[in-house]
Amino acid sequence: MSAAGLRGRGGAWFPTARKWQAVRAEGGQPFVIANGHEGEPGSAKDRHVMTTRAGLVVEGLCLAARGVGAREGVLFVKEGFHAAADALQRALDALPRQAPELRVVRGSPAYVAGEETAILEALEGRTAWPRAKPPLPAGVGFEGRPTLVQNVETLARVPAAVRDPQAYRRDERTLVSIWGHVRRPGVYELPLGLPLRRVIDEYAGGASDGLGLIFPAGPSAAPLGDEQADTPLDPTALRQAGSALGTAALLVIGRSVCPLAVALSLAAFFEREACGQCPPCTVGTSGLARILRQLESGGARAADLRALHEIAGFMRPHGYCAHARTAAASVAGLLERVPEDVAEHLRAGGCPRPTAQCDPFARHSREILALEAAALGDGTPA
Ligand code: SF4
Repeated sequence: MSAAGLRGRGGAWFPTARKWQAVRAEGGQPFVIANGHEGEPGSAKDRHVMTTRAGLVVEGLCLAARGVGAREGVLFVKEGFHAAADALQRALDALPRQAPELRVVRGSPAYVAGEETAILEALEGRTAWPRAKPPLPAGVGFEGRPTLVQNVETLARVPAAVRDPQAYRRDERTLVSIWGHVRRPGVYELPLGLPLRRVIDEYAGGASDGLGLIFPAGPSAAPLGDEQADTPLDPTALRQAGSALGTAALLVIGRSVCPLAVALSLAAFFEREACGQCPPCTVGTSGLARILRQLESGGARAADLRALHEIAGFMRPHGYCAHARTAAASVAGLLERVPEDVAEHLRAGGCPRPTAQCDPFARHSREILALEAAALGDGTPA
């Protein structure tokens, strides 16, 4: 795994070999979990991989179990992902007897329930809320045992990485969910390093309304402007450009859309999905959303904008999980990209182009439904 250089596709791009080593070094009775609780708005690649490559996910989980010395584990699938859970069960049924003891567990529909320590809580019979850290699951995980929690796309790549590490390293590919204002939304497998503009043009048929904003990580990082569209699809390059790759839920927003309407959609998503355990997150996400509602409707002054940045600064170091700091970085980062639009809203006393509203991060937004229809075939909200 070290030679292949495989990095996790759950959003952090953390080296898989180091994660395995951390669990193995603990000794005891390790446990393995395949994380199929995909919840990021605009990400459909984990459902795609579980339904179309279930055998590879299960094979990857068996290899991971062998790597860390585990004899049992689970495949944790979000509630409502019926086709994915059924495909994984069929793959498990085909395993030989000497394989590790594995079972499919269906989780809850909540967004934060896919966070790795929230999965541990759910498996132990409690509400699926993130735990305070440390300890990390590698040291103290399921029932106190060293636990490896690995994203399902990562696991599906393990067999190829183990079989021929050098070949894997030479041609590293990743799944990208491309959604929003593009001609062909969908899940695409493509090489890392392609400029975003080429990804959008060659795979998704191009932007349908010009390139306004590009969110390479969906809601999980600040967007890029069209002048940054030649940044490579690569986690390091995108971080250097002030964004991230995350789960590669690449959202394109057209030029005619009001960017502050998108910022409000983003803030409302974080407000809606905060689980309520940490006051800086609960109060902070609702504060960000309130000020953006005022900006759009005309009730905001310059002092409110200063308050928004103060709230974001306060939120950054807090919270049991990454929700609070991600909300702060994404929302404040978006506003920093569009200073002229912000000034125009303050000057005009509200949105100067109310016909250009767009709510992509709403639960079953038009943009999410279009992606799911293209990537999963039936358009059924998950
Ligand atoms: S940071 Fe937010 S989402 Fe995460 S545990 Fe705390 S309240 Fe819940």
